[in-house]
Amino acid sequence: MSEKKPVITVDLGGTNLRIALVENNKVINRVMHPTPRGAEAIVGLIAKQALELAEKEVAGIAIAAPGTASPQMDRLSKAPNLPELNDYPMAAEITEQTKFPCIVENDANVYAMGEVFYGAARGLHTVVVYTLGTGVGGGIVLNGKLWRGVNGAAAELGHVSINEIGHLCSCGARGCLETFASATAMARLAKKYGSNITTAREAYEQANMGDKPAQQAFVRAGSALGIAIAAILNTLNPQAVVIGGGGSSAYSLLEPEIEKQLKVRAFPAALENFKLLKCTLGNDAALLGGAALIYETFETQARAALK
Ligand SMILES: [Zn+2]
Repeated sequence: MSEKKPVITVDLGGTNLRIALVENNKVINRVMHPTPRGAEAIVGLIAKQALELAEKEVAGIAIAAPGTASPQMDRLSKAPNLPELNDYPMAAEITEQTKFPCIVENDANVYAMGEVFYGAARGLHTVVVYTLGTGVGGGIVLNGKLWRGVNGAAAELGHVSINEIGHLCSCGARGCLETFASATAMARLAKKYGSNITTAREAYEQANMGDKPAQQAFVRAGSALGIAIAAILNTLNPQAVVIGGGGSSAYSLLEPEIEKQLKVRAFPAALENFKLLKCTLGNDAALLGGAALIYETFETQARAALK
C-alpha cells in the first residue's frame, strides 16, 4: 500500500470540522475548525484546508458527513443535522476549487471502513460495525466493499425493531435498537430503573461502582444489541461485528449480554469462528476510513473502465 498516493479526509460534524492528510495508513497532519454555517462557507473551508494540507498530489478528498449520501456519493441527499447541505453539490464544488476528485459518504459508513481496514477488524473482509453514540448507526462491509444499498440508505443499524410497541424513536418508529442502546437511551433506562443519574457517562460510572439500576440499564442495552446482532448474523453471516462509537467504552458491560443473546438466537454455523470486537481507532476511525473509501471507490471505477 506504500506506493498509494495520500488522501485528504474530512470528518464533517454539526459542531466541528476535522480535516487530515492520510498517508501509508496514518494521519500525517490534521486541523480542526468549528463548522461554519452555510453550504458555501463549509465547502470553501474544506477546499482551502485541503489545499494547505496536500503537500503534493493526493488521490482524492473523502468527506464523512452526517446524513444519507446520494448513490453517486457526490452530495448528501438528506442531511437533518446540516440542512444547508441538503442536495448541495458538495463534491463538484470542492473539485472545482481544488482540482482533486471528491466523494461524500455517510459518516458511520466511513467510520466502519476505518475499523475494517485499519482498526479492530483489520485483515477481515466481511464485517458489520455498530456505532453507539447520541444515536446508533453503523456500516456494513461485504468482501472488502462498503454495502451502500440501492439508494445509499443501507446500514441504518440503529433503526431495526427490537420491540414493536416500545419507546418512540427519533425516526418516528417505536422500539428501535436506538431506543435501547444510544447514550440517551442508556441514561433513560438507568433513571427508569431507579438510578440517580442524568447522563450515560454517569450511568456507566455508577454501574462500575456496583449501582444495580445502572447495571440493569447496560444489561438491557446489551441484550437489545445482542438481539439485533443475532439477526445480522443470521442474515449476513459476517466474520466479525465491531462495537464502536463513544458507547463502546461500556463494552465490558455490554459484551456478556450480547454473547448471551447470540448463543440463543444466532445459527450455530453463523457463530463458527465469529468474532465480537471492540473498536480500536477512536476518533480517527472516520479520518482513516476516508482513505480506505477513496482507494476502494477509485479501484472499483478503474476496474470497471477496463472492462
Ligand atoms: Zn428508529
